[in-house]
Amino acid sequence: MEQLIRISNLNDFIFCPASIYYHGMYEELDRSVYQEIDQIRGTFVHESVDKSTYSTRKDILQGIEVFSEIYQIIGKIDIFDKKTRTLTERKNKITTIYDGYVFQLYAQYFCMIEQGFNVKYLRLYSYSDNKSYSIKLPEDDFEMFQKFNNLTINIANFDLINFRQENREKCNRCIYAPLCVNGGEI
Ligand code: SF4
Repeated sequence: MEQLIRISNLNDFIFCPASIYYHGMYEELDRSVYQEIDQIRGTFVHESVDKSTYSTRKDILQGIEVFSEIYQIIGKIDIFDKKTRTLTERKNKITTIYDGYVFQLYAQYFCMIEQGFNVKYLRLYSYSDNKSYSIKLPEDDFEMFQKFNNLTINIANFDLINFRQENREKCNRCIYAPLCVNGGEI
């Protein structure tokens, strides 16, 4: 069986493919030591989802586990409103709509439609300034859909042993740098 791709890894992979591996290693350690402030805030946003404290409305699904056979993707959705058929991914603060944010939504979307949910709208929500951003469905944005497909193929074929990160700037601001052996030569 192929290795499953975690939804939460998509954004990390875009930053640096090796970070997925180190993310897994650090997960067992004290998160407060290794996560940057913004990441910790983001975690709190998602904890309210995991603990189902966001809403008690029956038409709101929160933090449910989802899986896509086609993409071999697994993870949790953030929020799905069954009434409006809107799938939302919340972030602490959105200043730029990074491709990784969109791909996290796509991954949740593909999992949900495979599981029979009728998802019509995608949305990013910026928690700290209360702003929402509509995102086109993958079938309405061919370029992003192609990028998403390429990303999942690249993750599936990634070779950690032979990977070297050539962008030293990334390594300089990477929380995994103390243990990582995949940074390029200085
Ligand atoms: S230290 Fe560099 S190579 Fe290692 S995970 Fe971070 S960005 Fe990637």
